[in-house]
Amino acid sequence: MYILPTRQPEFPAETDDAQGVIEWALRHVDELAISFSGAEDVVLIDMACRLARAGKGRVDHDRLSVFSLDTGRLHPETYEYIEQVRSHYDIDLEILSPDHTELQALVREKGLFSFYQDGHSECCRIRKVAPLRRKLATLDGWITGQRRDQSIGTRDRIAVAETDAAFNGRNGSLAKFNPLALWSSERVWAYIREHDVPYNPLHARGFTSIGCQPCTRAVLPNQHEREGRWWWESVEKKECGLHAANRGAA
Ligand code: SF4
Repeated sequence: MYILPTRQPEFPAETDDAQGVIEWALRHVDELAISFSGAEDVVLIDMACRLARAGKGRVDHDRLSVFSLDTGRLHPETYEYIEQVRSHYDIDLEILSPDHTELQALVREKGLFSFYQDGHSECCRIRKVAPLRRKLATLDGWITGQRRDQSIGTRDRIAVAETDAAFNGRNGSLAKFNPLALWSSERVWAYIREHDVPYNPLHARGFTSIGCQPCTRAVLPNQHEREGRWWWESVEKKECGLHAANRGAA
């Protein structure tokens, strides 16, 4: 039976040692995967690959499982970047697609831009949340790039390690690791520069938080990064359901 990581005495619940959290997760969680959004969460992959190269215990390259959600609406730059990351790190990066029956029904009924009128929840549920739910149902735990500084409204209390309150794993309980929870955007970018990590070229064009092309826009200096996402909706709705527990949803 899986033991919740936060109940294990050796796990440091509040830490900014992101690589240490990844190493701990890879050592203790059997079916574990990194969720890669095609943005600066590439730092997680870089750290995991460093651990694998260093041959840390069970942390070998073959154990690294990385997945990415292909909504069908990403920027061309993001698709190219995902492939760049795949080849740069020589990893088996799994691409998750929406269920085509559900997607066709939505598009047939409401067209390709229903989110501007109806809000993003329905489209995100089909293109992101449902494929993620299917994937997580095969796992014991997942690693995300969430940070507290990404959203004052929805992410400022996320834990470094927690039991996922929104999704189930293959045996019920699902561990969720947010190794960058205590990191700032500046620290992430310092890491990317220091370690020469490949990054999405959209970042250099003012996109700080990158999602689907129709729902993401560049932000101005001093604007908060999440202001570029679903800008037509209020701040408390700026989550796509991948981290539904952040806003109290079950
Ligand atoms: S971010 Fe926009 S296009 Fe992408 S799944 Fe959500 S509503 Fe649909």
